[in-house]
Order: sequence, then C-alpha cells, then structure tokens
Amino acid sequence: FKTKILTLKNERSKTKDNKYIHIASNIGTEKDLKHALEVGAEGIGLFRTEFLFMDRKKAPSEEEQFEVYKKILSSFPNHKVVIRTLDIGGDKKIPYMDFPNELNPFLGFRAIRYCLENDDVLRTQLRALIRASYFGNLSIMFPMISMIEEIRKVKEIYNEEKEKLQKKSEKISNKIEIGMMIEVPSAAIMANDFAKEVDFFSIGTNDLTQYVTASDRMNPKLINIYTPLQPAVINLIANVIKAGKNNDIWVGMCGEAGANSLLLPLWISMGIDELSMSSSSILKARFTMKQIDSSKLKKWKEKVLLSKTLDQVKDSLKVHSYEN
Ligand code: PEP
Ligand code: MG
Repeated sequence: FKTKILTLKNERSKTKDNKYIHIASNIGTEKDLKHALEVGAEGIGLFRTEFLFMDRKKAPSEEEQFEVYKKILSSFPNHKVVIRTLDIGGDKKIPYMDFPNELNPFLGFRAIRYCLENDDVLRTQLRALIRASYFGNLSIMFPMISMIEEIRKVKEIYNEEKEKLQKKSEKISNKIEIGMMIEVPSAAIMANDFAKEVDFFSIGTNDLTQYVTASDRMNPKLINIYTPLQPAVINLIANVIKAGKNNDIWVGMCGEAGANSLLLPLWISMGIDELSMSSSSILKARFTMKQIDSSKLKKWKEKVLLSKTLDQVKDSLKVHSYEN
C-alpha cells in the first residue's frame, strides 16, 4: 500500500470523475518546505509565518523575511503559495512583543488585532511579501478577521505599501491575490459580504470549530464536543463555500478537517477548490480522492446536512467512506 501511494507523488489530485482539486501543504519551517516538495504538494495553502518570529530575540527584518518568502515562492513556479500574515497571540506568544496578560487569550488580542495596532510589524511583513511576489504566484492571507472594517483596513495598508514600492520602481507581480481566513463565526456567518472584499477564502477549521462549539481546541476533555463533525460546523462551512461560489472567489480549507478522510467527500460535494494539509497527509488524501465520484454526491450531501446529532452525521458519512 505504501509503495502504491508513493507513486501518487507525481500525479495531480483529481477525483474519479476527473475533477481537479488542489492538495497543497501547510508549512511553518524550511524543513516543512522540503517535505512539501518531496510529496508533490500542489502549492502551499498555508505558510504560518509566526514561526519566523518565534525562538529569537527580535523580529526578522524585511530583508530576512523577503529571502524566505522568495525561496518558497520560487519553489512552486506552477502553483499558488498562500502566505498568512503574523498570527500570534492565543497559544503562540512572542517574548519580545508586547502582549497583555489575558484571561482568555484565544478570545483576546491576537493575530490581525495585534497587527492593526502595531502596524509597523504588518507593514514590514507586507513589503517583504509584495517584493517577493515577483518570484512566484503569491496569495496573501489575513488571519482571525472578524469584522468587515478589519479586512478593509488591512487592504488599505497593503495598497499604501504597494504604492510606495511601485514609486520606487520595485518589480512586483501584477496578480497578487488578497484573501482571508474564515475561522471566526462572525466572518463565517457574514461570508457573503466578506466574499465581496477578497479574492479567496481559506476555512480554518481548527479555530472555527473551537469558536462555533465554544470548546478549547487543546482541551482533551472536550474531544466529543470539539469536532468538525458537529452539524453546526458542517452547515456553516457549506454556507461559506456557497457564499464563495456565489461571488466567484475560490475557497480552500487549511484546518485539520481538510485531511480527514471521512470528511473529504463532503468537502468535495460542497465544491471546495483547494485543501491544504500537513505534507504527511497529502498522498493518502490524493489516494482517497481518486476513489470519489463527485458527480454522485449531491443527494448524500443534502442528507448529511440535515443531520441533527453527531451520531447522525457519523452514520451518514459512513455511506461514502473510503477509509483504508
Ligand atoms: C485554523 O485555525 O484552522 C488554522 C489553519 O490556523 P491555525 O491552526 O494556525 O490556528
Ligand atoms: Mg487559526
């Protein structure tokens, strides 16, 4: 089985009925990049840039960041590379950055909230990204967006930095995409409005599940509540994907649920355009995808979405199980 799966390295990810759905990698380090290339990832669906900022004494300079982004972008000349701006706070603290002590850090001053108040950090990162865009197919993604005001504000900052670089005749790609994570319920509920502001969505099922079910993603006592199989979570995700389609933007998924073989046919039936996962899951997902006939899932999907309980969801998912 293992050797069979390894032959899929050089294949594109497609369903039995020949529908291409990119399977990209989630990465955080250079070692992860190597692994992504080894398994034939179809691009990067999430580069968690916070890792560049961790385990050091001060923030990486624009030049340092530029070199890293350039390297990743040039590694995938034929695929998209989605780079997420700094997502710190929550469980990820950085000693040299000024974070308040909070009672509920996951509901606190994190990610885009920090970056909008400390916009020098954001501007430096955006300049490095915009300059690196020349070397590949860059999509910039903002984390933890919960209000329209936030996405408008970051776009304004992005455009200011881009114009400044253009005035200096910096070489910049003319097809940079701007997107956002859908990982906060307020954004998921209002997805139809957010879709008019961006070029793509990427659904962060790790945080979205945590916030929709009010259950800490790291608390082992809550694993029966904290699950993307919850009827509320799958229905919300179906609506987000629909909102993306209705507004002609692409929709990816970069949380752990994207790699769940039980859920893979469901995401495909909803029309997901890209799945991004840790490189170690890619070949298995590609193998599962080859067995799925996406043209035959519509009725089944409707049934799954009508489930009222977790057990009903689990039972109806089993009908299209490709577990191996
Ligand atoms: C998510 O929340 O689903 C996600 C992909 O981001 P992270 O795991 O880095 O919070
Ligand atoms: Mg997240």
